[in-house]
Amino acid sequence: MKKLKLSLILVFILILNFVYAQQTRYVLVIHGGAGNVTPERITHEKRALYQQKLTEALEAGEKVLSSGGSSLDAVVAAIQLMEQCPLFNSGKGAVFNSEGKIELDASIMDGKTLKAGAVAGVTIIKSPVEAARRVMDSSAHVMMAGAGAEEFARIQGIELVDPSYFYTEESWQEYLKVKAKIEKDGRKGTVGAVALDINGNLAAATSTGGMVYKKFGRIGDSPIIGAGTYANNESCAVSCTGHGEFFIRNSVAFDVSARMQYLGESVDQAAGYIVNEKLKSQGGSGGLIALDKEGNISMPFNAAGMFRGYVSEGGKPQIFMFR
Ligand code: ASP
Repeated sequence: MKKLKLSLILVFILILNFVYAQQTRYVLVIHGGAGNVTPERITHEKRALYQQKLTEALEAGEKVLSSGGSSLDAVVAAIQLMEQCPLFNSGKGAVFNSEGKIELDASIMDGKTLKAGAVAGVTIIKSPVEAARRVMDSSAHVMMAGAGAEEFARIQGIELVDPSYFYTEESWQEYLKVKAKIEKDGRKGTVGAVALDINGNLAAATSTGGMVYKKFGRIGDSPIIGAGTYANNESCAVSCTGHGEFFIRNSVAFDVSARMQYLGESVDQAAGYIVNEKLKSQGGSGGLIALDKEGNISMPFNAAGMFRGYVSEGGKPQIFMFR
């Protein structure tokens, strides 16, 4: 009898182990933009602030994933935290265009269904990534722009703000410097997130104010599915940052997925080749974060630095900025 009991307990433990091993471990990767991110340009105080905010963004997304939530909810939670933080070039604190106005772009993609949503050139939507999610979930379209996207957001009950909400003195000073040609480019970064949830579903999202001093009406890669954002459960989830025109011409986010599917490359081989060889040879500065269905991470960049970090089940948030 004792022996039978012991064997039953053993079988039970084995089944539990099997179920646990079958369950995907969650992973969340974020970026806060690539560019002139060097120890010389980012003061110690600023570094601490970035460290704190990137950690908070990872924690916000992890909270969703650890309670069994979806990768889609996790990427939105992480990005919304960064959209509200003036340190990044998305939402509050986004960069100014050549007219001294702020125009925001964002997109999201579900790797399970290949459904996607995006908004471009919006000026009064507090959380562009939330609006992108709504385009995906509650419209028949993938991308909406300008006044039409804002009207859609209003009808959907999404929070609208006065454009002054996005204004920060730091972004304004950066705009003035670029305008006066004292600086060539901006320092602030686009934000992005990719996640794998415990059900094995991948998602990706990106949110940005675009390139500083961009022409009024210019749309970058960030809201374009396949350029700045892509997710497919069969391959990977990708969010890009950098000189958008190059990312659009090279369909960068989709290319990472395509190389994995067509050439059998690993996520790191595919992402590394595109960023460090293809884009670099064309002068396309930037980087990306990518995550495959097994939870493998790749975070290549060919700029001086890239704000980035990840957290996976059972681990602590890891943050990196420089090379
Ligand atoms: N890729 C963004 C754009 O071109 C900018 C950035 O990531 O810094 O709009």
